[in-house]
Amino acid sequence: MSSDLSSPSGAPTFTVRPSAHPRSLAEREQALTDLAFGTVFTDHMVRATWTAENGWHDERVVAYEPISLDPAAAVLHYAQEIFEGLKAYRHADGSVWAFRPDANASRFAASAHRLALPELPAEHFLGSIEALVSTDMEWVPDSSGSSLYLRPFMFASEPFLGVRPSKQVDYLLIASPSGPYFTSGFQPVSIWVAEDYHRAGPGGTGAAKCGGNYAASLLPQQQAAEHGCAQVCFLDAATNTYLEELGGMNVFLVTDDGAVHTPELSGTILEGVTRRSILQLLRDDGREVHERPITLAEIKEQVDSGRITEIFACGTAAVVTPVGHLKGTDFDLTVADGESGAITQWLYQHLTDLQYGRAPDPHGWMRRLA
Ligand SMILES: *Cc1c(COP(=O)(O)O)cnc(C)c1O
Repeated sequence: MSSDLSSPSGAPTFTVRPSAHPRSLAEREQALTDLAFGTVFTDHMVRATWTAENGWHDERVVAYEPISLDPAAAVLHYAQEIFEGLKAYRHADGSVWAFRPDANASRFAASAHRLALPELPAEHFLGSIEALVSTDMEWVPDSSGSSLYLRPFMFASEPFLGVRPSKQVDYLLIASPSGPYFTSGFQPVSIWVAEDYHRAGPGGTGAAKCGGNYAASLLPQQQAAEHGCAQVCFLDAATNTYLEELGGMNVFLVTDDGAVHTPELSGTILEGVTRRSILQLLRDDGREVHERPITLAEIKEQVDSGRITEIFACGTAAVVTPVGHLKGTDFDLTVADGESGAITQWLYQHLTDLQYGRAPDPHGWMRRLA
């Protein structure tokens, strides 16, 4: 059985081949109980193929299942791969919405460019999300704080050993009903500042969302865990002086005059959709915001003196996460009283209210998927 999903203008048609083994209602309800992050997947996924000869083709929604890959597939050897992460939120009336998916679509295209992958047109990206979410609509959780995490990704699938861009590329989209990212919920976390390792260097891939950046962050992340920290924060590779970001989240700080500061985009920082949205919400609120270079030395001194009153990290997965402690080889600082601050909480509330349809959406950030 096969059907075609109507799609927005300019989007390809996603042929839907329903899974022959969808989970039963009872199995789905079981799977949606006590959700963790990224461990449960829905019944379907999207696939599309690109070849140098034929461009993008064969867009389809198929059963979620293992994929077969030639052992020589270029991605397994040279890591030509990019991904995105966004969420589908169920609103009180049952409708399902994404938060600024157009921003993810354009970032996906920018990442593709940096990794010498073919750009997936925004209409294909958005069309794939609408096709999968409408097919697996019942998998979107309805409890607040939970959502359907969407993971679009693209990789070099041509079988060959040799260093050049792949002439065959696969695009997939999978979806994972998810609860909060940090198992402790909205609790302050401790951050380890890595001084021996960096995630990105000038001219490198730091501004692209690619698996390789994450591979480079795993060892320092492990060291963070050994020091009792939930996340690692990286400094700039060129001078080991400036704060950049966490492995997968941007970072902000608040000073006692109410101003909010975040490292400026320097080419080695990934521009988060959450970061950009937070800057806008703060400006809408009439707050002073500064995108500027921020040194570790300044942070140490100003956390110590009480000038810095809040530090938080942000990203789609964890939304906004307060940072209670900042540790490094020769320091261990408690930010204010170690609890989450007022602006951090306000931002978390404001952003999630918007995403779950509980607050007005003056910028038109929400896009209905189903
Ligand atoms: C994805 C990501 C972020 C956060 O981006 P959002 O669009 O807000 O989810 C921040 N830093 C890195 C390195 C990332 O990969």
